[in-house]
Amino acid sequence: MKNFLVVLFTISAIFYSHSQILKKAIPDKLVVLTFDDAPASQYSVVAPLLKDFGFGATFFVCEFPPNFKDSTLYMNWRQIKALDKMGFEVANHTHTHANVSKLTLSQFNAELEYIENKCDSLGIQKPQNFAYPGYGLNATALEYLQKKDYVFARAGGNRAYDPLTDHPFLIPSWATNADNKNEIIHALDEAKKGKIVVITLHGVPDVEHPWVNTPPKLFREYLQYLSDRNFKVVSLRDLQAYIDVDIAKGSIVPDLDKPLKN
Ligand SMILES: [Zn+2]
Repeated sequence: MKNFLVVLFTISAIFYSHSQILKKAIPDKLVVLTFDDAPASQYSVVAPLLKDFGFGATFFVCEFPPNFKDSTLYMNWRQIKALDKMGFEVANHTHTHANVSKLTLSQFNAELEYIENKCDSLGIQKPQNFAYPGYGLNATALEYLQKKDYVFARAGGNRAYDPLTDHPFLIPSWATNADNKNEIIHALDEAKKGKIVVITLHGVPDVEHPWVNTPPKLFREYLQYLSDRNFKVVSLRDLQAYIDVDIAKGSIVPDLDKPLKN
């Protein structure tokens, strides 16, 4: 009898905390598109296509060294502001694409604040989400993001995001390249049973970083695939409609041993 009650209590405790983390059920076929590093093609190719399909997305921007100022390679801030105006999310990827695990807290703070101040001065919505450059992260960085009131932080890991077990600062994702179409299509299948698929893209195309290049033709195929199968494609900030992030952070212990790199 005692064991039975313990089991019953455990089950109800799990159910209770889960129902608290979720404001509403995660629908099947929920996909988050995220775009890193601010390459020029995200303004010229990606944004217009996303608009055509009516999809949301998050753009994790930085001033990628050393060529950020070359507007043939990277977006300028006027273009980043245009993404915000178009309704897309502009979020923080540090000033210099810094490996966060190697920074002091004051360096990390400066990296975050540069992007925050830039957005503030241009009238872009305050960045509330973060993506770890190069997937570099550690426990100290998570604590600091919390102190700075960040909501979500995206990592890698090639697995689906389970809001009931993955900490909001350790959101896993798959990254696209020119050769992993089958892997990505297969990954989209996992957007079901409470799990969300988060995709990391870079340039479409990506001239400076060919190992994360997504050719425009392939990108258009992905969007058509998502549209034809009625996926709901949103930005990271849109997940707050489903997830009570404060409760998730209070009840999920960050697990840095899970796969978090792509
Ligand atoms: Zn990056």
